[in-house]
Order: sequence, then structure tokens, then C-alpha cells
Amino acid sequence: MRAAFLTGSRQFEVRETPDPVVPEDGLVLKVEACGVCGSDLRRWREGPPAGVDNMIPGHEVSGVVTAAGPRAVRFGIGDRLAIAPDIHCGRCWYCERGLFNLCDNIRLLGITPGYPGGFAEKMALTGEALVNGIVHRVPDGLSDEFAAMAEPCSSVLAAHMKANSGLDDTVVIIGAGPIGCLHVAVAKARGAAAIIIDRSTTRLEMVERVEPDASLNATQMDVVARVRELTNGLGADVAICANPDPSTQAEAVRMVRKGGRVVLFGGLPKANPNTTLNGNLIHYGEIEVVGAFSYHPTAHAMALDLFHRGILPVDRLITHRFPLDQVGQAFATADSGEGLKVIVKP
Ligand SMILES: [Zn+2]
Ligand SMILES: [Zn+2]
Repeated sequence: MRAAFLTGSRQFEVRETPDPVVPEDGLVLKVEACGVCGSDLRRWREGPPAGVDNMIPGHEVSGVVTAAGPRAVRFGIGDRLAIAPDIHCGRCWYCERGLFNLCDNIRLLGITPGYPGGFAEKMALTGEALVNGIVHRVPDGLSDEFAAMAEPCSSVLAAHMKANSGLDDTVVIIGAGPIGCLHVAVAKARGAAAIIIDRSTTRLEMVERVEPDASLNATQMDVVARVRELTNGLGADVAICANPDPSTQAEAVRMVRKGGRVVLFGGLPKANPNTTLNGNLIHYGEIEVVGAFSYHPTAHAMALDLFHRGILPVDRLITHRFPLDQVGQAFATADSGEGLKVIVKP
């Protein structure tokens, strides 16, 4: 098969490599679509992790089963599957309590060394991935591309469930990338008003595809004051930081009303993960600041169902498609911020 190996910083090598061996208790999938994620971009900029020569990334995957081991459970040849990266251990303190995304021994397909991902023609799914991973059947009629989008959408759904966004809420989203756009779509689907903030005019133009109630350019105004104006002086009910800039987390705290919720959704750069928040606003205003990372497997099934029922406009989020041989170009396009979701079709 052909596969895309990340060999260095911003360096992919697409070449022939032996087909994955069919695991005794697992499957081999012909990959149909694999999304480029913000975390893939970080890995691409840095190159493979220390001590690893090369790796096949890709964790927003859909495909069809082409081979099954004799002891494979749940799925068989011909099944169309959507796959998310997390494989939990099932045994640690968190897993015992069903908090699988916080598993102490979590492994991630396409991310953890030794777990090749979806930027390849084929991909193996071990029995462990079938049992403790996140694998769901693609509903009939849902395209491969949309099925791959269920992965990024799942973490957005989980964040909104955590923030309890809903009718009568104004949700501010800081960061108008593909994830920010998903946040707008999910906020609206849950009945909330959505205000999106970014510094890029290009991104703010693209976000119009998901019809936010207001979009604010942070280079042109005091966004905290503007959010207060738009909410009759009160402040937003929920603010979600979907970007890697710690200063926006401080802004989010200043933007929400008393009793409001701030969700730290985007990771910060590893070299500088510290943030400074106004502790008095949090204390006197009883503001809740929560982290949101990954999701329970049920969120992935929910995303597929919502796409299938047409509740989220996933079709408006995919702007670019590339064949596997152009994976480098796919990453450069996603990195440029000129598109929203970029999909590779091996
Ligand atoms: Zn992702
Ligand atoms: Zn665990």
C-alpha cells in the first residue's frame, strides 16, 4: 500500500510500504477519508516526536473493512466505519468510572508512536481498538468525508454538554478555525445565539457559512466591550476558547456574565502553557472555568447521528480535498488558514 510518513518538520514522504497485517482479533480498513486536524498541524510543524524516525499520522478516519481476523468482534468485511483515535485501558481509576477520555494509559491512533493512523491506503484496527476504542458504523447515506468529520465534532459536542449551552444562552467562541465553526453550528443547534471572534478577516468571512449571530474582528474593536453591548451589558453566558492564544482565555473571563462558564477548549503551546486570569472576577462573579478535552465514545455516535439527520451543516465546513500523494499540500493548505476543513482521500 501507499502511506504518508511524517519524516521531519513539515516533511512528508509518500511511499510504498507493506500492507498492515490483519490482527487475529481485529480488522484492516481501506481508508476512504482522513481529516487534517489542528493537532496534526502541530505535529507536522515539529516533526515526529523525539526518538521516532517517522510515523503515519491521521486520526479523523472513515473507511470500509476489507479484512477481518478470525476472532474479530463487532464488525466484519464490508462494514463502513468511522474511527476516532482514543483507545482507553479499561482498568485505571478513570476508566473504572467511565471517564475514558481521562484514562491514565490512553493511546491515540495516528498520534501515539506505534499506532499508525489514517494517512494511508489501509489501516489496521486491533481488537483493543474495537473494544476499548471509538469505532462506529457509518449510517447509510452518510458520505465518507462527513463520517471522518464526526471525530472533531465529537469534542465540540462534549464541550457544549459540559458547558450546558442552550436556549436563552449567548455563546461566544474565540477562534474561527474549523473547530470554531463547529462550535458555532453546535451552539445554534442547541438553541443558543453564537458570537464568533477572530483576528483574521479571511476566517471571519469563511465562518459566515455556518451563520453566526455576530462575528467580531478582534483587530478592529474591543471585543470584551462589544460582547457586553451585544448582551445588554450583561456579558455572555458561555465563552469557549478554541485557539492556542492564552490572552484570549483572560478575555473570555472578562466577557462572561456573573455565573458564566468559560471553556478552555484549545491547547496552548507546550513551551508556554501558562495563562493569567483575573481571579477576582472568577471569585466574586462565581465564574466557572473548565477544561474540555476529547469525549466519551457516545459523543462520536451522536455526531454521526446529527450529521445523518442534517442537524449540523457539516457540508459547509469542508473546503479542500486532496489525494494521498498531495498530503504535504493538504497540510500546507490547512496551515495557511485559507480553508476550513481539509480532507485527504487516500
Ligand atoms: Zn483531531
Ligand atoms: Zn484507563
